[in-house]
Amino acid sequence: MRFFNTLTRQIDDFKPIDQNEVKIYTCGPTVYDFAHIGNFTAYVYWDLLVRTLQLNGYRVKRVMNLTDVGHLTSDSDEGQDKMEKSAKKQQKTVWQIAEFFTDDFLRHFRGLNCTEPVAIAKATDYIFEDLQMIKTLTEKGYAYTTTDGIYYDTSKFPRYADFGHLDLKGLEAGARVDFNAQKRHLSDFALWKFIAKHEDHAMQWPLPDDIKDLLDFTAINQKDLATDETGAILGYPGWHIECSCIIHSLLGETIDIHTGGIDHIPVHHTNEIAQSEAAFGKILANYWLHNNFITIDGAKISKSKGNILTFYDLEQKGYNYMDYRMWVLQGHFSSERNFSWENLAAAHQLLTKWRNFAALRWQVKSPNLIEGPVRLGQAARSAEHEMMVGDFTNPILEGVNNNLTSAQTIAKIDELMPKIYQNPNNPRSDEAACNGGLSASKALDFWQFIDDLLGLNLLNSTPNLQDEAYNLIKDREAARTSKNWQLSDQLRDQITETYGVVLRDTDDGTIWEYK
Ligand SMILES: [Zn+2]
Repeated sequence: MRFFNTLTRQIDDFKPIDQNEVKIYTCGPTVYDFAHIGNFTAYVYWDLLVRTLQLNGYRVKRVMNLTDVGHLTSDSDEGQDKMEKSAKKQQKTVWQIAEFFTDDFLRHFRGLNCTEPVAIAKATDYIFEDLQMIKTLTEKGYAYTTTDGIYYDTSKFPRYADFGHLDLKGLEAGARVDFNAQKRHLSDFALWKFIAKHEDHAMQWPLPDDIKDLLDFTAINQKDLATDETGAILGYPGWHIECSCIIHSLLGETIDIHTGGIDHIPVHHTNEIAQSEAAFGKILANYWLHNNFITIDGAKISKSKGNILTFYDLEQKGYNYMDYRMWVLQGHFSSERNFSWENLAAAHQLLTKWRNFAALRWQVKSPNLIEGPVRLGQAARSAEHEMMVGDFTNPILEGVNNNLTSAQTIAKIDELMPKIYQNPNNPRSDEAACNGGLSASKALDFWQFIDDLLGLNLLNSTPNLQDEAYNLIKDREAARTSKNWQLSDQLRDQITETYGVVLRDTDDGTIWEYK
C-alpha cells in the first residue's frame, strides 16, 4: 500500500511498525453543533483506509477523539470555548450540549457504515493525562505562564516549523498587534487555560500544586484568577493537548497513521507533534493523511452563506447515507470537491445499478422454472473455464492500495460488474456456464469483498423477494405467454406497487430491479 504522506509531501510505501497491527489516530469532531455533510467526507475516507488495511491482512487499532472542551472559536487560543458558547446560546449545560451533539454525530457516523474505532475518546476523560503531560513539558523547560494560561514555548522545539512548512518569521512580521502580549512568540500555544474571576466557564479543573510549583507565577496577578475552595487555580485544557494524551494513553508513543483535515496541518497537528515529541522524544506518527474539503455548488460551506446541508436535508430529498457514501468514494481524500444535487443523483443511480447487479443473485431463469427463490449456479460447471474470485478482486484491491484512489476503483468495479455472472441476464443458465464469470458461491464472495472494501451494504440492502412476489411474476409471465396484455400490465403494476421493484423482460426471462 502507498499513500500521500503530509510528513514527506510525497506518496510513500506503507511500512507498519508492527506487521500484525496498524495503529491509527483520527482527530474527531468538536461536539458543539450539528455536523454538516462536508464534515463527514473525512470519516468515509478514513473508513476506506481502515477497510483497505484490513483487506490487506492487517489488524487495525484505531482511536478517534471527541472534543468536548477547550476548542476556542479561534485556533490561536483566543475567543470563547465553542462548547461554552453553544451551551449559553441554547440555555443548556455544556455537558448536555456535548451529549446531544455526540449522539447526533455518532448516528450519522454509524449511518454511513463507518467502521467503529476501538475507542472513541472524549477529551474530558483525559484531564489527568493532560496535566501529567503538562508537568513533563514543564519539567523539560517547554512551558511558561501568562495571565491566561500555561503556554508552550515553540522556540524550544527546533523542528516546530518543519511539519507545516511554516514561515514563522513571516507570520511574526504580519501579526496583528493585539495578540496576547505575554506570549513569547506568536506560534506559542496554550497547554492549559486559566479562568479569569469574571469569566463564566462551566468546565473547570484545579491546577495541581506539583505543576504550579514548577511554574513562575511572579508576573501574574493571581487575584484575578478563579480558584476553588482550596485556593487551587481553576482552568481547562488547551485544544491540542487532548490528542497528544489520548494517543499516548491508548496507542503509545509512536503510531503508524494520523489522520485529520488539511486545516489542521499548520496549527493543531503541528502543535500535537511539538507536544508529544518534546515530551517523549519519539516520532508521533510515521504517516499523516489529510483530507481536503468540499464546496457546495462551488461555494465554501459556511453559516453566513447559508449553504450548510445536513443528512436531514438529504433525507428530505429522498437520498440516504449510502448514496452520500457512494458520492464521497467517487472522490479522493486529498482533492477539493464540489457537491451538487446532480452529482448526488448520479451517485444514487450508480448505487442502484450496483444493487441491481447484486440482486441478480436471487433471480430466476424463466417463468416455467419458478418454484420460489432458487440460488443460482446449482449445476456443476466446467472448471477449466471458471474464473476465481481473486481474478476480479485482486485488481480492485491493487487499485485502491495505490493511495486510496477509490474513484478509479469504482470505475473499475463498474466495468467488471456485468462480467461476474456467467450470464448476467440468466444467472442460472447452465448452458452459459463457460463465458468467464463466477459461480454462485464465488459471486457471493465477490459481493462480500465489495461490501468489505467500500461499505456500501450491497448485500444487506438487496434481500430476496418473498415467494408471493415470485408467484406474481410467474402469473404475469403466464399472462404474457398467452398474450393477455391487460392482465400482464396489471400484474406488473401490482408487483411494483407491493414490492417496490420493476420488471425487466430479457431474452432469458424476466428479472426484477430496484427503481
Ligand atoms: Zn487532534
